[in-house]
Formats: sequence, structure tokens, C-alpha cells
Amino acid sequence: MSLILNGNAVRDQIKEECRPRVAAMKAKAGRAPGLAVVLVGDNAASAVYVRNKTKTAEELGLHHETITRDASLTTEGLLEIIAGLNARTDIDGILVQLPLPPHIDAQKALLAVAPEKDVDGFHPYNAGLLSTGRPGLRPCTPAGVIELLKRNQIPIAGRNAVVVGRSDIVGKPMALLLLQENATVTICHSRTHDLPGVCRGGEILVAAIGRPAMITEEYIRPGAVVIDVGMNTVRTRAEAERIFDASRLADFDRRGSLLVGDVRPADMAKVASAYTPVPGGVGPLTIAMLMRNTIEAAERRC
Ligand code: NDP
Repeated sequence: MSLILNGNAVRDQIKEECRPRVAAMKAKAGRAPGLAVVLVGDNAASAVYVRNKTKTAEELGLHHETITRDASLTTEGLLEIIAGLNARTDIDGILVQLPLPPHIDAQKALLAVAPEKDVDGFHPYNAGLLSTGRPGLRPCTPAGVIELLKRNQIPIAGRNAVVVGRSDIVGKPMALLLLQENATVTICHSRTHDLPGVCRGGEILVAAIGRPAMITEEYIRPGAVVIDVGMNTVRTRAEAERIFDASRLADFDRRGSLLVGDVRPADMAKVASAYTPVPGGVGPLTIAMLMRNTIEAAERRC
């Protein structure tokens, strides 16, 4: 039987640990840590993510505000908003929700966020701190994966870790965080030769690809720990048949779509010693880590 790594349980632990820190900050500074989220355009998924973030901030007693602008906002307009938030003493964390409308220069926007308020950990300054092993704000999703591994007593040091995906948001910081924990790390991407063979070398395999159930049994070393970061929606029955067993197919027929990661669920359950389910694995951790980053940013600024 493989161990299911429960992201909801770890999320709840992290949130509980946040509460006394918020109270301590209120006692010391006379205010709660403050998070500002900037949402541009009318991307429905982004609106849901932002609502979930502010709901958790509310639950933990953080000060939070959402600055909403329609898609006609210019890059300069966004930079002005960010500059205003950088200057505010009651805002400790600034998050510019991605994706931005295509005419906005996202790189410029992310560079404009003051590094000490960059609670997403995307600013090159924070990426540099991570790559040189210095303390700093870490990207939430990969930092959440490390928490999940540690809190499930899964050893990292000395183990071969394979990360599939090299994005600045997940793959690269994931690899660097594993390296910091003394894993021997291999990073794979769309040009990697013999991907299944390389993946089979991983005692810890992290999939951050964005392709539904691409990682199948032949990629997974028997007994590996598999972390599935992917979040994909399956909408066609043919694809559902390729991915799911009969019971989940019935769910698909009822709902018309299903969430799936980058790893085929039945294969993970069969071959891995431990794995993250989708949903309920990595997903819940991201927001909890965002709250923790906001509190950390506030503590450093007070
Ligand atoms: P990106 O699209 O930015 O990066 C995908 C990476 O996968 C790229 O490095 C790409 O390689 C690689 N890749 C794509 N196809 C293949 C292939 N056939 N073989 C090998 N490598 C491949 O995605 P993100 O990193 O932003 O996100 C990855 C997944 O994680 C998505 O499903 C996303 O929804 C999910 N996600 C989940 C979060 C959560 O909270 N659970 C948070 C953030 C993301 P190359 O660089 O060569 O193009």
C-alpha cells in the first residue's frame, strides 16, 4: 500500500502555525500583516484563485485588499499601482495575479514589486537568494512541496530527485529547494532525451509539466515518492478513458469534467511508495505558504 501524502492536513498545520504569529504581530506592531492582491482583466480562474487567497487571509486575521482593474489597464498603470503598494507601510505582501492580459509586460510588473514584499517569491532578487542558499521569500508551491515531504518524514538528503518542468514558478525553484535539502537533483524539460528512463532514476519524482497524466507507470521507479504538481482539467470522454478507472469515469460522466495532475493516478498508486493525490495533494499548500510568506515579510519589516 502506498502512502497518500495529504496536502489538506499539512495546509491545516501551516495555517494553525500562522495564527499565533499574526497575534504576536498585532501585539507588537498594532496591526495585522497586510496582503494586497492585484487582479487585472476578467480571467475566471484567476478570480477564483484570488477569492480563495483572500478568504484564507480573512480566516487568519490578515489585513487584505484586492485591487481589481479591467483588461484595458496599461503596463504603466499597473506599475503605478505597484509603486503605490510598495510605498505603503501597512502592506507587507504584494501579489500580482498571473496571467496578466497579453499587452501588459508581466516581467516589468514582477520586477517592480519590492523584493521584500514579493510574497510569491518570483522577483529575480528572491530567485537569486534561493539559488545562493540565502534566506528569502520562496515560491509558494515548491516551498509547500518541501513542507509536505518533511512533515511526512520523507528523507530528502542524499536521494536522487528528478523534477520534470523548468518554469520559474515551479520547476526551477523546486529543483533548487531540493538541492538545498541535499538531494541529488536532475531537471527535465521538453528537450530531455529518454524522459521515462531519466524519471525512473528518481527516488523522488516531481511532475510540474501541465500535461494531463503524461507520467505513467514506465516513468516511475518502483517505490519512488511521486509529487504531482500538475493541475489539468479533462473535458473529453476519450481522454477520461485513457486516464481514469471505472469509478472515476462514472464521476466524469456525472460532472462532465475532472481535475487530473501530470501523473496517471492509478499508476502512481500502483508503483509509488508515497504520492500526492490530485486534488488534495500539492494544491492546498500553495495558499497556506502564501499566508506564511506574508507573515514572514511582515515580521521582517516590523
Ligand atoms: P509551464 O508551462 O510554465 O512549464 C511547464 C514545464 O514542463 C516546462 O519547463 C516544459 O519544458 C515542461 N514540459 C512540457 N511538456 C513536456 C514534455 N512533453 N516533456 C517534458 N517536459 C515538458 O508550467 P508551470 O510550471 O507553471 O506549471 C506546471 C503545472 O503545475 C501546471 O499543470 C500547473 O497548472 C500546475 N501548477 C500547480 C500549482 C498548484 O498550486 N498545485 C501552482 C502552479 C502550477 P520546456 O521548458 O522545455 O518548455
